[in-house]
Amino acid sequence: MCCDGSLFMSAVVRPDEAIDRLTSLGLDIFVHQDKPVFRLPCHNLTPDGCAVYAHRPFTCSHFRCELLKDYEAGKVSFAEAKMIIKQVKTLLTQHDLRAKLEAIAPVRGLDYRKLLQAVHAAIAEADDPAALRKTHGQILIVAMQVVHLLQSHFYRPSE
Ligand code: SF4
Repeated sequence: MCCDGSLFMSAVVRPDEAIDRLTSLGLDIFVHQDKPVFRLPCHNLTPDGCAVYAHRPFTCSHFRCELLKDYEAGKVSFAEAKMIIKQVKTLLTQHDLRAKLEAIAPVRGLDYRKLLQAVHAAIAEADDPAALRKTHGQILIVAMQVVHLLQSHFYRPSE
């Protein structure tokens, strides 16, 4: 989920990485808050995983989400970690969540936390927020469940 834009909209490029090499991997590099970053979802993500695994950026090879850290520390079993990932992916795919949220808020390329914030803002600005909340009630609940799971298991507490 770190590569597909669910958690983050971009990944920081380390200062010691050659930009040319990353560009040759097809990464979409731009500057964000004075730092070079590449856009997520990543162009190299395939159904079988990373298409450039052996040459992936330093950020990718060194990134550890909190769930992976908990697994490596023995706080979460492999089966539990798999179950959490499956739970999130099932919610995302079964409800076609991104498409439905982006239909409410006309934005693209946001991670789910920011996308849900944009949806809440779009609803609040609508002529009849209560009616929209009723219409989209189920998808809002699913989105809140997803964000809760991401915040509970994948992000650092400070993020
Ligand atoms: S280069 Fe590979 S590991 Fe890095 S974000 Fe893209 S798909 Fe993921």
